[in-house]
Amino acid sequence: MRISVATIFPPYFTGPLDVGLVKRAIDAGILTVDIHDIRRHGLGRHRQVDDTPYGGGAGMVMRVEPLVATLEPLADSHRVLMSPAGIPLDQTVVDRLATLEHLTLVCGRYEGVDQRVIDSHIDEEISIGDYVLAGGEAAALVVIEAVTRLLPGVVGNPESVAHESFRDGLLEEPVYTKPAEFQGQKVPDVLLSGDHARIASWREEQRRRRTEERRPDLWERFVARSDS
Ligand code: SAH
Repeated sequence: MRISVATIFPPYFTGPLDVGLVKRAIDAGILTVDIHDIRRHGLGRHRQVDDTPYGGGAGMVMRVEPLVATLEPLADSHRVLMSPAGIPLDQTVVDRLATLEHLTLVCGRYEGVDQRVIDSHIDEEISIGDYVLAGGEAAALVVIEAVTRLLPGVVGNPESVAHESFRDGLLEEPVYTKPAEFQGQKVPDVLLSGDHARIASWREEQRRRRTEERRPDLWERFVARSDS
């Protein structure tokens, strides 16, 4: 898979793409990421990329020309603008993005992006949550990481991708590793029992209980789906 990123801050991506699972995917040739500096297409001597909003108001707006010049060569990709006004990112959206051959993530800054860019050069807007960031870069990294771990060959054991939070609409159960006891805190007996059927039903029970307690929204959907 290829992911292109349009940003005015290319250095934002150097650290995160160079560690862990994303680095492994890049090194293995499963993922390529190319960073496109919007400022390269900035206007005039100062490579200006923003300007004051029509109609007045606070802050600056990203201009059309530098963004369009950046996005035109990426016209064959699925172009996503990171935006608080986009559809909320969830595992279903991540699953869909992970099937694309070429995804472009556009990072806004300032008060946002001139609407005409969105109307003519953006296929979809995605939000990572109901809060406002200073720019789309952190949001783009969230998408890159969530998508990368789904690409075939990236996560060693495909089981761990198949059975995890949200996959079936439930949160994951609590997990434990050695030692069996730490400062008086014991690992639940059932996990040490070797009884696989009992362990499986304990896990299922924990997943349900947690989801019901912590995420009534997910629980309601899960129950509705199980009933139908
Ligand atoms: N004035 C805008 C916020 C602009 S924040 C508003 O109120 O909607 C600047 C940029 O950060 C945005 O263009 C977008 O690219 C990015 N951004 C901010 N919050 C985001 C979020 N929750 N999800 C995805 N991108 C976000």
